Amino acid sequence: MWLRLGQTQIHVDPGPGALVRALGHVPPCNPRELDAIVLSHKHLDHAGDATAMIEAMTSGGFRKRGVLLAPPDALSGEATVLPYVQGFPERVEALAPRSGPYRIGDVEMYTSIRHVHAVETYGMHFRHEGLRVSYLPCGRYFDELADDYAAHEPDALIVNVLRFRDNMDVDHLTWDDACRIVERVRPRVAIFQHFGTKMLEADPPALAQELEDRLGLRAIAAHDFRTIDLETEIAAAGR
Ligand SMILES: [Zn+2]
Ligand SMILES: [Zn+2]
Repeated sequence: MWLRLGQTQIHVDPGPGALVRALGHVPPCNPRELDAIVLSHKHLDHAGDATAMIEAMTSGGFRKRGVLLAPPDALSGEATVLPYVQGFPERVEALAPRSGPYRIGDVEMYTSIRHVHAVETYGMHFRHEGLRVSYLPCGRYFDELADDYAAHEPDALIVNVLRFRDNMDVDHLTWDDACRIVERVRPRVAIFQHFGTKMLEADPPALAQELEDRLGLRAIAAHDFRTIDLETEIAAAGR
């Protein structure tokens, strides 16, 4: 995800292909303009291109700039951010649960409660002027998770939903879990992404429409390369 909040640009979870896709975007998303790269967790679908993106943000380490925020286990041990680039950004901070603000340009970021996922995982609550945007990455449902996001009262909530409906014992939300969280948090705009095969077969735009009608908020099923103008969507959603 490439976030633009005012003048501040943040790349969240640069998975495989993130760099090539950013440069191929029209108009291009320029890594040299990034203020920060933030990882929710070290899994490769979220961090596979982190090293490449840091190289790009810092012109191969020749321009020390930008911020890297990531859970500690992404930075040490079996680090998915390779150690040789960890000195390239101007600032590197290891994320802790429910902490912040972490400052990125004009944006303040707070971390969520620790998610229940195989590795250290945190969601993010961004604040820019009056706007609040939260990102709920991968993890298993539990009530305190929904409470944490509700407490930040986001205008827009981005939710990773891998599964549709199943009884598998895995650390990912189902569509029903995601709906329950949205119902509890009540953002003006809910954006869903990170769909597994069963979710894709279930037609995410139709599911989002159903939820939108039921809850009276704006619900969007994202897809690759989609640009979402949050201000427009939030204004259209009213309250
Ligand atoms: Zn994961
Ligand atoms: Zn994932």
